[in-house]
Amino acid sequence: MPIKVLDPKVVSRIAAGEVVERPASVVKELVENSLDAGSSQVSIEVEGGGISLIRVIDDGSGILPAELGLAFERYATSKIDNLSDLESISSLGFRGEALPSIAAVAEVGITTCAKGEQAGSYLTLKDGVTIKKGSYGRPQGTTVTVRNLFRKLPARLKFLKSPVTENSHIASTVSQYALAFPEVKFNLVIDARPSLRTPGSGKLLDSIAQVYGLEIAQNMLEVKGLGEGSESLGPQVTGMVGTPEVSRSSRSYLSFFVNRRPVNSRLLIWAVEEAYHGLLMTGKHPVAIINLALSPSRVDVNVHPTKLEVKFQNERLVFGTVQKAVRQTLISGMPVSKVGEVKAKFVTMPQPRQIVWTETGTIERRRLSGRVSPTPKISLPVLRILGQFEGAYIVAEGPDGLYLIDQHAAHERILFEKIKQQRSQQKMEVQGLLEPVTFEVSPQQAETLKLYANHLAEFGFAIEPFGDRTYLVRSVPALVDQKDWAMVLRELLDSLAEESSLDLGEKIAISLACHGAVRAGQGLTDDEMRQLLRTLEQVTIPNTCPHGRPTMIYLSTRQLKKEFGRV
Ligand code: ADP
Ligand code: MG
Repeated sequence: MPIKVLDPKVVSRIAAGEVVERPASVVKELVENSLDAGSSQVSIEVEGGGISLIRVIDDGSGILPAELGLAFERYATSKIDNLSDLESISSLGFRGEALPSIAAVAEVGITTCAKGEQAGSYLTLKDGVTIKKGSYGRPQGTTVTVRNLFRKLPARLKFLKSPVTENSHIASTVSQYALAFPEVKFNLVIDARPSLRTPGSGKLLDSIAQVYGLEIAQNMLEVKGLGEGSESLGPQVTGMVGTPEVSRSSRSYLSFFVNRRPVNSRLLIWAVEEAYHGLLMTGKHPVAIINLALSPSRVDVNVHPTKLEVKFQNERLVFGTVQKAVRQTLISGMPVSKVGEVKAKFVTMPQPRQIVWTETGTIERRRLSGRVSPTPKISLPVLRILGQFEGAYIVAEGPDGLYLIDQHAAHERILFEKIKQQRSQQKMEVQGLLEPVTFEVSPQQAETLKLYANHLAEFGFAIEPFGDRTYLVRSVPALVDQKDWAMVLRELLDSLAEESSLDLGEKIAISLACHGAVRAGQGLTDDEMRQLLRTLEQVTIPNTCPHGRPTMIYLSTRQLKKEFGRV
């Protein structure tokens, strides 16, 4: 569609308000324009927290020279035309307000070349007024440069936080679009330092790995398909959710996209958190990237100027569909890894809360008395040990098949839950050393030690400075072997120095559990194996180790018969 100024009737129906609150809002609007233009690459450069410079470069459809001036007119857009278009918006932008609003509070330069055109054009604006324009040679796409944001608005400038804070808002904005558009290559450079780069492979997991790091990426489950019974009406839910092991202490790892638009939605947060009910410790929140695809007529995006809020026509259906899709993913992704088809085993437990729809159509959590519904505390059946295989796996027989248990992974899970429990009750079991031992560290380990000494102390490492890069160690966590503690501590310091999105406490617990656990290749007596399985039966998630790998493999009697051609 060509760019044209919207009819006043349409304008009056558009949610009016501030578009440019801070540098990140400029980045958001420009990136949305690049995505609406069908770009496969979007590069973003910022300097000075986005105040000195924001530049967005794309390879999208570009703007025709004759329309370039119009793009900076208020309510000029190529994305909608009439009132009925407002009912089903499929682009990210639609109000024709962003470019003029940005040009009103900054110095803007734009160069562009439309698809199939020989020559491009440029335009320079100051205080919203065009000061230069002409033709410009460049490949297809558009570059918008915004300088000296809010220079004419000292009050607004004062209200902004430090450049570091503004940079972090910008990084988080770009990250959201990178997660929403895995097929687009994003490249964010902040003060000449590369900040985020996605491959544009089209695979969500690749974007997750860049945005959140490998540890999270390795623990994601794919959400597929629809919630039951809502195929015809409900939204289609796709995306990825983290296993309970990669839970976080804030909600900032929850992203929602409605027809690929990043949105803030309490309803959707709630739906996902309900799906994790019983799987996360209190105060923990999941990692989730949820895409909802639904007919644009069933969702109103025209309710807020920044377009971050949406209104669903049928909130109840959306809530239910998302909650079920995520729950199903978690349930089928978590139970015992299986050879062939096996059913997960669950115990039923009283569910203390239930979602209730109030008469006004909102939702409420209510306490329930006595109602029972399944909660996935995963329970192991009683197992009879048959022996040990390759000094690494326990072979056991259950009521309906054969179990192979990875002794190291299983013990890791047991220790991990024990450490977390002891820590939360502030009852870490500590082992004092017979006499203080000196401990030498590398320069990097020394930095890490300085930074985390208090955290390590919480886990039972009493460490004091004792000269240059030398420390005195007085006690260690009880589960660490007396002979091995120095190696364990060294590896722990190295893993703490690595960049990771894991919570610090979680990282220490995982590392200690890993080092405290029996190794593969270590012979175990029948008694030791029995003891290990008995303890494993008591943990909350016996079927994966803290890294998310399976602790056991199950081969059902039925599957065995099938393999032997007996059924
Ligand atoms: P809106 O996105 O709501 O239409 P904007 O003010 O953001 O309004 O942009 C006005 C118009 O300029 C858009 O409708 C589009 O036609 C054109 N435009 C803006 N940025 C780009 C871009 N990066 N590539 C191609 N066209 C663009
Ligand atoms: Mg726009």
